[in-house]
Amino acid sequence: MSRRSLDLDDTVYHYLVAHSVREHPAQAALRAATASHPRAGMQISPEQGQLMALLVKLIGARRTIEIGVFTGYSALTVALALPADGRVLACDVSDEYTRVGKPFWQQAGVAGKIDLRLAPALQTLDAQLAAGEAGRFDFAFIDADKTSYDAYYERCLQLVRAGGLITIDNTLWGGSVARKASADDQDTLALQRLNDKLHTDERVDLSLLPIGDGLTLARKRA
Ligand code: CA
Repeated sequence: MSRRSLDLDDTVYHYLVAHSVREHPAQAALRAATASHPRAGMQISPEQGQLMALLVKLIGARRTIEIGVFTGYSALTVALALPADGRVLACDVSDEYTRVGKPFWQQAGVAGKIDLRLAPALQTLDAQLAAGEAGRFDFAFIDADKTSYDAYYERCLQLVRAGGLITIDNTLWGGSVARKASADDQDTLALQRLNDKLHTDERVDLSLLPIGDGLTLARKRA
């Protein structure tokens, strides 16, 4: 029973949410505003957001990176967990999606903490590296196009300080990473390659959590 993670049926899942999740009204409102979106499945779950917020506080993060903002729930959640002078460097290519979140960032009083960069994330990250920002971030969340995950991870590993945390979403990918992927399933293949690499990557301490669609925590070693 305790040797593996519990299978959560709907009853237990709802109990977990009811006894764990504490949302700011703006977080609940943003989730409601995203629920009808055709790509609502891209939003992280509230219990995952709350875990990320806790991690941000535990490591005393001040400067964070987000790759893949969608409608802005995770950026809002991390921004709420940051101190007043904290910042989220929020990378996305979609004005249409990110625009949904902005009123809720305002409502929560954290819009000033979220520095949204509408450009390919690798451009934004490489510009940060070129500007001498390596080792100057505390926390990163990678949740964008899966085939670029490894490139995002390598950039984040440079940008985050020793002891900083890189979190990577969708690393179980509906369970498909555990099965043989067809040659044209580039997303699954990319995630499988990254999971294989991370498992033996001596640059980080590692945990792959069965929360949401799989959340990998990689703490940068000194
Ligand atoms: Ca995701």
